[in-house]
Amino acid sequence: MEAEKPISAEDLLTRHQWLNRYKGELVGWNRLIDDLACQIEQRYAEHGEPLNAETFRVRQVKEKFGELRFYCDSSVPIQDLIQQATLKSNSICQECGVAGQLMQNDRLWLRTLCEKHAGDDYKPRPSLKKITVDGVTFTFFDEGQLDALMPSNGTRIPKSS
Ligand SMILES: [Zn+2]
Repeated sequence: MEAEKPISAEDLLTRHQWLNRYKGELVGWNRLIDDLACQIEQRYAEHGEPLNAETFRVRQVKEKFGELRFYCDSSVPIQDLIQQATLKSNSICQECGVAGQLMQNDRLWLRTLCEKHAGDDYKPRPSLKKITVDGVTFTFFDEGQLDALMPSNGTRIPKSS
């Protein structure tokens, strides 16, 4: 993969002013968030809906358990786009944006990091399953995340006990 410089918070917010409540602090993921923002803009365009403070509101953008969490209110359905970005965040270093993986330290804190940013404290988390889609490897650790892959038609595969 080509090494790309992370997008600065300033560039990201210049490109997508409607993201204004996100301050760009997840430096390594700003390129991922930029991609997501472009997809959201495209989705709004497809629905013929303007994208502004009345139709879209960022509630919170943060890292949790080593994953991107993107909470918002939108007038157009975009959950699938957000879900894909969250899955992709598990393979991008949250510090610098190069390829990374979910790591944990001995206090079981989870972060997605490259080798360099993992340092001596963080070690790769043992994974349950890996799936590669369009050259992007998704790693899944629990049944909840596997469910997330299923088509969202309201039915769920029953959990085996
Ligand atoms: Zn890194």
